[in-house]
Amino acid sequence: MVAARAFTGVSAAVGARTFICESSHPNDAMESRGHVWSDFSFVVSSGYRERVLTSLARKPKVPRQLAGETDLRIGHVSRALRELSGRGLVECLTPEVRARGRLYGLTSDGAALLADLNGSRSYVTPTVRAGQTGGFVPKIRGSSVVRVLEYLRKTRGRAAVDGAIEPWSVDPDHVTEDTWISVNACAQLLDLLETKFGDGSYGFVRRLFSEAMSTFPTVREQLTKAIPLTALVERAPIVYAKEWNYGRLEVKTERRKATMSHYDWLPTPAMCAMFHGIYEGGLAFRGVLGRVTKTLCVRTGSDHCEYRVEW
Ligand SMILES: [Zn+2]
Repeated sequence: MVAARAFTGVSAAVGARTFICESSHPNDAMESRGHVWSDFSFVVSSGYRERVLTSLARKPKVPRQLAGETDLRIGHVSRALRELSGRGLVECLTPEVRARGRLYGLTSDGAALLADLNGSRSYVTPTVRAGQTGGFVPKIRGSSVVRVLEYLRKTRGRAAVDGAIEPWSVDPDHVTEDTWISVNACAQLLDLLETKFGDGSYGFVRRLFSEAMSTFPTVREQLTKAIPLTALVERAPIVYAKEWNYGRLEVKTERRKATMSHYDWLPTPAMCAMFHGIYEGGLAFRGVLGRVTKTLCVRTGSDHCEYRVEW
């Protein structure tokens, strides 16, 4: 959709937010930036807000221009602007002018959020150069990325995989077991893989993780324990905490059923497909016939993503 095109200018400006940081400790997770997560869900939970924010990506606009560009009624645009201003994501650049003639633009927070949205929305992710930023960066452990790439090279051939990830902002040769990769870079990698091997539905990413998850060391450590499935599922947050330096996973189990509540940093369609696949892979590894259903998603307005595992 329009998003990919409209975002380009912004992502160039804030592209430095995607970067790799080696051997960083997971505990630097506890600093600031918590607001970005809530802003993210605030924006994606309303199509109006998202369209207005997106429309401001390239240049400031007056409400009428926004209405024209977004196909929204002016009243909806005004309300979205009010809400986004209240959140500090957009600002009025000409407060002295009367209501509908006022010019609105993105704040730096709004631009940063758009860059995140961009990473999560565009099917083909633009190449982002590695850089450095201050503050907290959500990251994932390199070991699962190493295993996924290994698995792919074995099943799809080295050349195809290397070609697919050529535009990746991270040098794959630098990713090791204990490298921590920004979650943006991970999301970008998944999009590149879906682009090359999938059809855009993220079914490929889901299958990939379902098949490869049992090779992830921290997953394997739990999967191979001789404990009942319910007990195993209850240990999922241990794996989550080891693999991710951010977010939260809550598990509720009932008889032959578990509800996994994810409070993830960047639930892009690819990341959601990844978790979906990981749970399916767990069932398959244990030889259990069951199914995993995505019951809630931040992308459809919930405050978290939820997967129901039944067997
Ligand atoms: Zn989701």
